[in-house]
Amino acid sequence: MLNLIIFGPPGAGKGTQSEKIIAQYQLEHISTGDLLRAERNAGTELGNKANEYISRGELVPDEVVIGMVRNFMLSKTSAKGFIFDGFPRTIPQAEALDIMLLEFNTSIAIVLGLEVEEDELVKRLMLRGQTSGRVDDQDESTVRNRFREYQNKTLPLQDFYAKQGKYNSVKGIGKVDEIFSNLCSLINTIKQ
Ligand code: AMP
Repeated sequence: MLNLIIFGPPGAGKGTQSEKIIAQYQLEHISTGDLLRAERNAGTELGNKANEYISRGELVPDEVVIGMVRNFMLSKTSAKGFIFDGFPRTIPQAEALDIMLLEFNTSIAIVLGLEVEEDELVKRLMLRGQTSGRVDDQDESTVRNRFREYQNKTLPLQDFYAKQGKYNSVKGIGKVDEIFSNLCSLINTIKQ
C-alpha cells in the first residue's frame, strides 16, 4: 500500500492536489472535511454536532473524526493506498492513524506539506467562499479562527513527522501543474 498525507493550512491547495495525485496513483481519498460535510448534508446526528464546530472554525473533537476515518478505511479493504487530506490535524489523531494503519499492516510512507503564506491563504479562502457555498470560507473571523486552530493544534505535526523522517515541504504557490509535478517527484522517490 502507498499511504500519503497531504498537509498544509486551510486554502493551501490540498484538495486540488489530492485529486491529481489520486488520478496518477489510484489511491483512495480520505478528506475528513468532505466526510463531515456529507454527514451534515445528510442531517445525521454526527453531522449536526460537527457543524457547530465547523461553523465556528474550530476543530471537531478527535474521537468523532478518528471513528469516521476508521469506518471509511474498513469499507475500502481492497484499496491500493490512501491519501489523507485534512487528517490528521492533531497529535492524538496522528497517533490513532499510526495504530489504525498498523492494523492494516501498513504505515504512512510520506507527508507532503504545502507551504503558502497566510495573506495569500486568506485571499484564496475568501475567493473560494464566493463560489464554494462553504460558510466557513465566507466570514473572515471564522477563517482567522481556522488559522489559529492550525497554528496551535496542527502545526506540531510537522515535527511529529519530521522526527520520523517523513515530512517534506513543497512550495504551494505557482501553477497547479508545477506544484503537482514537484509532489510527484517526491512520491516517486519512495514508491517501489
Ligand atoms: P476542511 O474541508 O479540511 O478545510 O475542513 C473543514 C472543517 O471541518 C474544519 O475547519 C474543521 O472544523 C473540520 N475538520 C475537518 N477535518 C478535521 C479533522 N481532521 N479534525 C478536526 N476537525 C476537522
